[in-house]
Amino acid sequence: MSGRRPLRGLLAGVLVAALSGCVVVSSGPSDRSRPAPPGGLGRMNDSSATADPGDVVTRALRDVERFWQGAYPGISDGAAFTPIRGGYHPYTRSEPPPACGGQQAQYQPNAFYCPDGDFIAWDAETLIPQLYGDFGPLLVGFVMAHEYGHAIQARLRATDQPTVVLEQQADCFAGAWTADVLAGRSAAFTGVTPAQLDNTVAGMLLLRDEPGTAAQNPQAHGNAFDRIRALQDGVEKGVTLCAGYRADNVPVTEVPFTSRQEAATGGDLPYAEAVNALSEDAQAYWQRVYPQLTGRPWEQLRVQAFSSGAAPACPTPAASAGGSAFYCPDGDFVAFDNEQLGQQLYQRIGDNAVGMLLGDLFARAVQDRRGAETQDRAGQLAVDCFAGSWTNDLLTREPASGIRLSPGDLDEAVAALLAFGRAGGRQEASAFERIASYRGGVLKGLPSCT
Ligand SMILES: [Zn+2]
Repeated sequence: MSGRRPLRGLLAGVLVAALSGCVVVSSGPSDRSRPAPPGGLGRMNDSSATADPGDVVTRALRDVERFWQGAYPGISDGAAFTPIRGGYHPYTRSEPPPACGGQQAQYQPNAFYCPDGDFIAWDAETLIPQLYGDFGPLLVGFVMAHEYGHAIQARLRATDQPTVVLEQQADCFAGAWTADVLAGRSAAFTGVTPAQLDNTVAGMLLLRDEPGTAAQNPQAHGNAFDRIRALQDGVEKGVTLCAGYRADNVPVTEVPFTSRQEAATGGDLPYAEAVNALSEDAQAYWQRVYPQLTGRPWEQLRVQAFSSGAAPACPTPAASAGGSAFYCPDGDFVAFDNEQLGQQLYQRIGDNAVGMLLGDLFARAVQDRRGAETQDRAGQLAVDCFAGSWTNDLLTREPASGIRLSPGDLDEAVAALLAFGRAGGRQEASAFERIASYRGGVLKGLPSCT
């Protein structure tokens, strides 16, 4: 978000030069944007939490091959699937990966598909154990399904697309495999829960592809917002949709920085300034669109940041963020814990995580004022779509008017939803569902929410 300055990107970390195909990069030394590793990590079938991560990788790869045996003919005019010929290659610092094409073999904390050798290689020393330990086996499976997606592109001879499209297509293919897992057809991964899916999405925030041609177009990578959309496309609609990905039909939400210099030097708005600017902007947005929604004028909504343990009295709060924030129908105001929630979101994720919180609270007020439920699953998803509609307005408005978002901001919103919107009770929407609903509002605007 910028009043004057763009935000720093959520995923700024150590980017490693690509060996070929694509690279998975861990977040680097700064853990500012790192979502807290969640509890309740998933597990592979009949393997305990102490399973060997390397074993998880090979079992995942075999399961992905099982999936493509069935799915590939549907997108290849009936041609049969041929598994990769160059094998699976775990590597370590002391035993680096095989050379790929003209590239010298060297250790990097990543995973990649090599088109020349038709093989998949991964860092078995650092990356995979880290992903497995922090986010669970399904994320490891997803990373391998993504790399296998590049092997599928090579088989289809469909690699003449921009890198950002190829990366999202690989995510989409991996999502289609994930749907197969969720449908219970995988022997390797069973009983995957909404919480595990949320863990996997959280892990995606730490993963970023660097294309082999990065120097030519450093802006061409999908942000986490788009990558999660591609994953969900695959989960919901399957390989045929993924195979149809083209530059002119894949929505890419990248927003240009005002200048390269700003992009390089940009930082968050100061916390208090961010809260004030975002609150004012949300107020103005709902003043403008609420009458279209309900035929009634928008009454100014009071926003109160309170000190921990000193929440303003509210008999029946419509709670958000586990109760640290709420809309109070009785007093008709919204409130949030300034230190434990607002500043934490700001420090750990960025200023648009505060934007997501305020967007949620304003949307909760909208939903309640129009006489609709805010707390059940459908109500929660409506709240998220309304919040997304405000983001849509921020993204599409004239440059000169008010604050604007940068690509990092969308990722911050997603990270915030993962931070305070994880799957909890049985009736609650998962973060996976909430992100999808939020994205609907972002991409399609307010009319899509009702
Ligand atoms: Zn890739």
